[in-house]
Parts: sequence; C-alpha cells; structure tokens
Amino acid sequence: MMVNKFYITTAIDYINDTIHIGHAFQKLVADVLARYQRIKLGRENVFFLTGTDEYGQKAEKAAKEAKLLPKEFADKISDSDKKEQDSLNISYDRFIRTTDPDHTGVVQEIWRRIDKAGDIYLGEYTGLYCEGCEAYYTQEDLIDGHCPFHPTLQIKQIAEKNYFFKWSKYRDFLINHIKSNPKFIIPENRKNEMIEFAKKIKDIPISRSNFKWGIPVPNDPEQVIYVWFDALTNYLTGVNFLEDSKKFNKFWPADIHILGKDNARWHALLWPAMLNSAGIKLPKTILVNGFLSLNGQKISKSIGNVIRPSDWVNEFGVDAVRYYLIGHTNITEDSDISRDKLIMAYNSDLANGLGNLFERVLTIILDHGINIGTQRETEISKKAGVIQKQYDGYFNQYNPSEALRTIFTFMKDLDRYINDVKPLTQDFW
Ligand SMILES: [Zn+2]
Repeated sequence: MMVNKFYITTAIDYINDTIHIGHAFQKLVADVLARYQRIKLGRENVFFLTGTDEYGQKAEKAAKEAKLLPKEFADKISDSDKKEQDSLNISYDRFIRTTDPDHTGVVQEIWRRIDKAGDIYLGEYTGLYCEGCEAYYTQEDLIDGHCPFHPTLQIKQIAEKNYFFKWSKYRDFLINHIKSNPKFIIPENRKNEMIEFAKKIKDIPISRSNFKWGIPVPNDPEQVIYVWFDALTNYLTGVNFLEDSKKFNKFWPADIHILGKDNARWHALLWPAMLNSAGIKLPKTILVNGFLSLNGQKISKSIGNVIRPSDWVNEFGVDAVRYYLIGHTNITEDSDISRDKLIMAYNSDLANGLGNLFERVLTIILDHGINIGTQRETEISKKAGVIQKQYDGYFNQYNPSEALRTIFTFMKDLDRYINDVKPLTQDFW
C-alpha cells in the first residue's frame, strides 16, 4: 500500500559561524511546510531534517584560530545553531550533524557504490579554489577574479592528486530529468539556469589530501571525502539509510530539498548524478529559496549587521517574528527585511488587523452566541470555502507566504463585511 508521507529537508549550515536571520528564513519555510503536512498526513508520516555541515578545510582553520580541536569547535557552533533554530520553534524531527557516527558509514557506503559503478577514478586536478565555498570554479564563474559568493576571499590555484567523480557521464541524464520533471526544480528561472550549467559539466574531484578534517576515503586513508559528497549524503543518513530500511523506504525519496541559490547546482546536478550512480531514487523537488537582505544590505559578519533569530525573538516574541518573515517575503526571490518593517507589520497586521478583528468577533459572540454564522448564511461564509482552497493550493506549490497572505486578505473582507452589515449594532438583531 502506498503511504502518504512527506520528507522535507533544509540545507545543513556550515559551521564557520552561527546561523543568522537569513539562514533561519529557510528553516522557517521548511518548518511551516512540515507543520502543514503533519495536519494533513499525521505526525508519524512527516519527517523534517535540518542540521550542520561540519567537515572541511574551512572548519579546520576556524577551529585552529579559536584554539580548539575541530570537533570541539564543531560542537560549539552546532549547539548554537540548534539553539537559534529552537528559538524560532523550528520543529525538526532530527538535527543531523555530519560528524554523527552513523553518517560516516553512509558516506563511505555511497562512495563504494559509486566506485563499483565505475564512476570514480584517480587523477590530478589544478583549479581555482574558493575556500569559502570549498569548491573549484572556472575562470568564467568568477566576478573580477573573485568568487560570486565570497568577494572578499582570495581565489587560490591548487594542484593535487584526487579522486574524481565521472560527473560528465550524467550530463544528458540530468538535462533530460530536469526537462521531463516540471516540479523537479522550483522556481522556473532556476531550472533554465541549471540546464545551462548542466551543459558545461566536467568531472570533479571528490577527495582532498591537503587537510585531515573529513571522512576518510575507503581504502585510502591519505584522502578525505570532498565536502559536497559528504554533505549531500546527509539526506540519506537523516532517514537511517543503513540502519533502518523500513523507515528509509517509507520516507525516501525526499519530497522536497529546500536550499539557497548558492547551493542550487550541487543539489540539482551533483546530487541526482550521485544517486543515479549509486542506484538510489532521486528526490522529487529541489526548491531554491531567495536570500534575505537587511536594510538593503547583504547580511554578513564583515559588514557587521548580523542579526540572530533569537535577537528578534527576545524583543518581539516568536510568533510575531515568524509571521513577519513568512508574511512579508517571497520564498523564491530575494527579499529585504528590517526591524522597522517588522514593527510596522506587527502593528498593522497583527495588532490592528488580526487583533481588532478578533475583538469584534468576540464581542458579537459574547452578546449573541456563536451560531450567527450558521443562522445567516452569507457571501462571506461562502468565500471562506474559496479561501481554504486557495490556501491549500499555495501549500501544494510550497508557497506558505502566499498562503498566509490569502488569510490576511480574507481578514480585510471580514472587516468590510462587519462594517457593511453592522452586527455590532442592535438594529442588526
Ligand atoms: Zn566562495
């Protein structure tokens, strides 16, 4: 029998620093989708995975600067990320860490399967490397000689002996898959971008020998597994790929991976190629969320404008922050947020809009009982049914922002209705 289930994941955050409000936005989108599906399908049929990505050269370096062992450093940042997510009531079912013991076994098993398929070979790589992304770039990817995501970091030319993944073998497979599965990549403009990237795919190194902080390559302890090969595999570990086949078969393939635009090509192109090589089904949807800016600026440590979720939660309360972040953004486009706009949304939508409406309806109920809706079937009660359908429709398109706005538009209709028919006056009765 087909189980109706929902498996949703977020990107796992790299541990160079604690997450800020921009990272948390993605977790919140996933949380709202997970909560909606729990109501539809039952708690036991929904699995929501988030966590931290902990291996790699950048983490090794950051630990050294903090005078800690890599694992101690990872513990510290992972713990504070978790606390930030908890402050926003993110209802994850597992907070995975790539240093979790069960993850090592899964990554090595995937490596063995891909190796067995003949898709791994030893080669030498010289390339332009961004330590921020832990990824190689081609000259044409760079903007003024810098990584598009880390304009302040130096791009390094690196040569090393590495294992390579035969990514290029999957070029046509990937393009066909994207074209023939319209819901595989959301939104549409990312889809076209990924097809363009796919055309240029070359084999990539999937191991490193110039640092130690990573999962060892099976049968070659001199090399550790390349960050993306390790990190992406967390989605399998999350639902117990090796340890609980019943659970894994229930939840896999993932219904939706949510991730930022900087991670899009790895999820849309590398991950499906890895899975196909390893003989594992592909996820159903990759949703690429936009970035948040703050007062028109990029949120970053170097600019010095970082806000943690807990900062705003402590000041405004968790539901107000959740409301603002979902209700006043566009999921798949960049959105600008600010403390002033949050206060405005709080006052106009929550205090005046929702608060006033609630008070008026409560007054009517206290004076006349709660049966007035059924006694006086009106265009407004019919409209509620239409609104419910729109709301579900938006959730089915993974768009909780529009779903929320539907409700707040309906609230305005309710206000207008109360103004028109005047149930607060004696004449009405
Ligand atoms: Zn970079």
